[in-house]
Amino acid sequence: MITLGHGAGGMLTRRLIETRFLSRLKSPALSSLLDSAVLGDLALTTDAYVVSPMIFPGGDLGRLALCGTVNDLAMVGATPVGIAAAFILEEGLSEETLDGVVQSMAEAAEEARVEVVAGDTKVVPRGACDGMFITTSGVGRLHESFSPRPSAITPGDAILVSGTIADHGMAVMSAREGLSISGAVMSDVAPLNHLVSRLRGFSSGIRALRDPTRGGLAATANELAEAAELTLVLQEPAIPVRPSTRTACELFGIDPLHVANEGKLVAVVSDEVKNDVIQTLRDHPLGRHAALIGEVAPGKPRVELDTALGTRRVVRLPQGEILPRIC
Ligand code: MG
Repeated sequence: MITLGHGAGGMLTRRLIETRFLSRLKSPALSSLLDSAVLGDLALTTDAYVVSPMIFPGGDLGRLALCGTVNDLAMVGATPVGIAAAFILEEGLSEETLDGVVQSMAEAAEEARVEVVAGDTKVVPRGACDGMFITTSGVGRLHESFSPRPSAITPGDAILVSGTIADHGMAVMSAREGLSISGAVMSDVAPLNHLVSRLRGFSSGIRALRDPTRGGLAATANELAEAAELTLVLQEPAIPVRPSTRTACELFGIDPLHVANEGKLVAVVSDEVKNDVIQTLRDHPLGRHAALIGEVAPGKPRVELDTALGTRRVVRLPQGEILPRIC
């Protein structure tokens, strides 16, 4: 039986994908497990969004559905060409709620400078879905001189993050639980395509990009380590976390490394360009808290964390059901 844990982006999600899907839908592009499939000079991606509540501090389901797909295209270096959106609406949903979600999707599309060019609507009876679910797909155009892929990661490379982590997941959790924390916890949901286009000039100096969504930085770092077959060593004190978000994590007893982000990227870059890349990220509003958080070392494919206490521990894929319906 499927459990909520199968949707949490950790070990169970990984096993679900490998045993139920990859074994049957045999496609090299699918099995590459990149954020988007690479098909010649095009990139293609699709994502379903079921976040609860559908409106949360810093965004809503419409903005999330647009940005998530734009970001998956950006992580393989593609410029978005067009987005398709399918809406599943529950009987009884108010037109006002629907208008708000579609309006913020439109605003996010304008921010990303991409259009929603195809769509579908379905209505299901009361109780058959929770208000509204959206699936978005995106097509992007790849650039010949810029193709960040985890397989290009080399020992000695630097690991960067474009800003504070765990804001999205904690904003959704706080809204769901009715928690109010001073210095509000806000989702970071944003389109990253303009930020990534500024990195194009670094060409192969940008080894790999990944958006640490479900499963958070812990899942993303593990995926990169496995794809590169190398050890990623992270420095815990260097990883930026907003104080209000850290407070929320402590209240829920959740490691910020396991919490979803929707407007951040992890970049693995060559040692020679790392300082210039950090500066380039910081020059953009969406990257102003960019930081160097670790480096790639030879060794087994795994993630190690040098903690604030001066110890080193292994960071595994999140286990079980931590944060269901966060995106
Ligand atoms: Mg992604």
